[in-house]
Amino acid sequence: MRVTEGGVELEVPGEQTEGIEEAVFYNPRQELNRDLTIATLRAYREREERATSYLDAMTASGVRGVRAAADGWDVTCCDVDEEAVDLARANLERNDLAADASVEHRNVTALMHEEPFDVIDLDPYGTPMPFADAAFANCRDLVCVTATDTAPLCGAHFNSGVRSYSAVPRNTDYHAEMGVRILVSALARSAARFDVGIEPILTHATSHYVRTYLELTHKPTAADAAIDELGHCYHCEDCLYREADPGLIADPLETCPHCDGNRMLTAGPVWLGPVQDPTFIGAVRDEIPYTFDTAPEARELCDTLAAELDEPTHYDQHKLCRNWGVPANAMDEFLADLRAAGYEASRAHYGGTTFKTDASVGEIRAATEGNLD
Ligand SMILES: [Zn+2]
Repeated sequence: MRVTEGGVELEVPGEQTEGIEEAVFYNPRQELNRDLTIATLRAYREREERATSYLDAMTASGVRGVRAAADGWDVTCCDVDEEAVDLARANLERNDLAADASVEHRNVTALMHEEPFDVIDLDPYGTPMPFADAAFANCRDLVCVTATDTAPLCGAHFNSGVRSYSAVPRNTDYHAEMGVRILVSALARSAARFDVGIEPILTHATSHYVRTYLELTHKPTAADAAIDELGHCYHCEDCLYREADPGLIADPLETCPHCDGNRMLTAGPVWLGPVQDPTFIGAVRDEIPYTFDTAPEARELCDTLAAELDEPTHYDQHKLCRNWGVPANAMDEFLADLRAAGYEASRAHYGGTTFKTDASVGEIRAATEGNLD
């Protein structure tokens, strides 16, 4: 079938359906991810002018590489699958971009070790961790990472999460954010092996994947600073109390300081530091033209991300109210009550009823219960 995306035209195998079977080469559900990638690359070029080369490390249909080449990047597309390589070449030719990009049919880890790139984009099916070391060892400026294994990342497939990310993920009410923070933690530790520090400048999670953009600093002290952002999260399964504890050595809570319950979980090491750079996200938002199909959604996502508080976990208003046995009120009213009581509060991008605050679970209830009955 033929698809048009972001001004380029692509031929991809499969029929125009919402099915999963053709997703190996072209996944229509990832169009938002790709539109944001292009806008991020545009904003990043303004931030770091030396950045010119872009590696689409798992190119499949070549859609990312074609779109980046159309934007003037010096593109390399790579795939181990011969059919993918043929498809990527044909799609570059179809858009008169064959001279602007090279297509490599090989193991991308070997390629990354041989040739440095300014920007590396890892977009594998499942966990990106098998490719992370080579990317951090050889990328100059920006590593873009997609992880689609959300069940391992959030602790729902516990053993798989432990194996892939060398961390303990726990299934909580903020499961998508658990995935974000387990992923960024593992990436920070991978980068640190090469004396590289990471700074996440844009991160988003949807129901099907986590995406993060990591700016690199090649200095041992920057790697140390990134490791200093790691820590643990202690979580009460009964009252949803949670506490972040910086440092690589955990000191788990045996009983909950709020409800005295003993159903406490410990997750970590997780990334406790910021996962967004609001100024950069503002620049990304400005680079999303309305010719992109997902522009309204992508711009709204940028607005929410830029306004999100720097708290390592979020709450879900409906889950809290269900736990308290009270009906939920309107989100804006709920957040206004928190602010009126002197706390910071913002919506979160993880869902329409999710929010972030510096108030504890007990403080949230005290600040809002007057309007919850
Ligand atoms: Zn508790």
